[in-house]
Amino acid sequence: MKVKPILPFGYCKGVQQAILLAKKAKEENPDRACYLLGMLVHNEETIADLEDHGLIVLDDSKDSLESLLLRIPDGQVVIFSAHGHDKKLDEIARRKRLTVYDSTCSFVSDNLKEAFEASKRGSVIYIGAKGHLEAESFLANFKEAVFYDVKSDLWDPSSVKGSSPTVISQTTLSYLELEKAHKAILSSFPDAKIGPERCLATTLRQEAIATIPDSIKSVIVLGSARSNNSKKLYEIAKEHGKEAYLCLGLDDVKKLNLNPSEEIALATGASTSPKTYHDVLGYLESL
Ligand code: SF4
Repeated sequence: MKVKPILPFGYCKGVQQAILLAKKAKEENPDRACYLLGMLVHNEETIADLEDHGLIVLDDSKDSLESLLLRIPDGQVVIFSAHGHDKKLDEIARRKRLTVYDSTCSFVSDNLKEAFEASKRGSVIYIGAKGHLEAESFLANFKEAVFYDVKSDLWDPSSVKGSSPTVISQTTLSYLELEKAHKAILSSFPDAKIGPERCLATTLRQEAIATIPDSIKSVIVLGSARSNNSKKLYEIAKEHGKEAYLCLGLDDVKKLNLNPSEEIALATGASTSPKTYHDVLGYLESL
C-alpha cells in the first residue's frame, strides 16, 4: 500500500521533554514511589511505557488533581503533566514534602506569562475547551480571564473591560475553532489583539492535514481519543472531505477495512510515539 507520511510525526518537543523528565525522576529516586499526576501526556501506549519504567499513574478521569495529590504518601515524588496545573497544587506538594518534577510545556507556561503581561493593558480573553486540563489550569491560575469555550461557543462580552482585549488560546485547538472564535470576538471588539495561538507542533500538523492532495481520499491519525490535538487532526481531515480514522496504534489499524490499491495518508498526534508510527507505516506498506 502506498502511504503519504504527514510530517512532522511522533512526539512534539513538549511531550519528549515530559517523558524524559518522568524517566529522570524515577532514575534519581529509585527507592521512592514516583507518581504521574494525571496522564502525563494523553496517549495510553506512552503511559503504559512509563508504567513499565516504574512510574505510577494517577488517573484524573474521575478524580480532581487536588484529591489525587492529597492521596500521595508524604515524602514521595510527583510529576506534573505537560498541560500545566493549578499553582495551588505546588503549595500542597510542599506541605506534603513531595519532590516535584514539573513537565509543563513552555508553550503552555508562556501563555500564562503573556496573559499576566497583557492584563496590564486591559482584559484578556482566553479561548479554550471547557474541561481540558490545559484550559482549566490556565483559568485556575489567571482568574481574571474572560473565557470563550469552543465546545459551546459561549462567552460573556459584557465582562470585557476596554475596547482592545488581548486574545490568548489553548495550544492544541484547531484553526477551524479559532477562526470561529476570532470572528465572534472581533465582531464585538474590532480592535482586539489576537495573541499567541496554537503551538508550532499543532500548527504544522494541522496545515499538513489540510493540504493533503485531493487524490488521497483516506487519512489515518494515530492518537488517543483523549488527545485534543489528535482529535483536531481527525476533525480537520473530515472537514476536508477525507475518510478519516482515529487509531491508537497498530491493533486498531489492523481492524480497518482498507483498500491496498488506494494511497493513504498517515498522521500522528503530538503524543504518539515514533515507534507506533513506524510500526503502522511498516504494516501499511506491507499490504
Ligand atoms: S502539543 Fe504543543 S503545547 Fe502540547 S506539549 Fe506539544 S509542543 Fe507543548
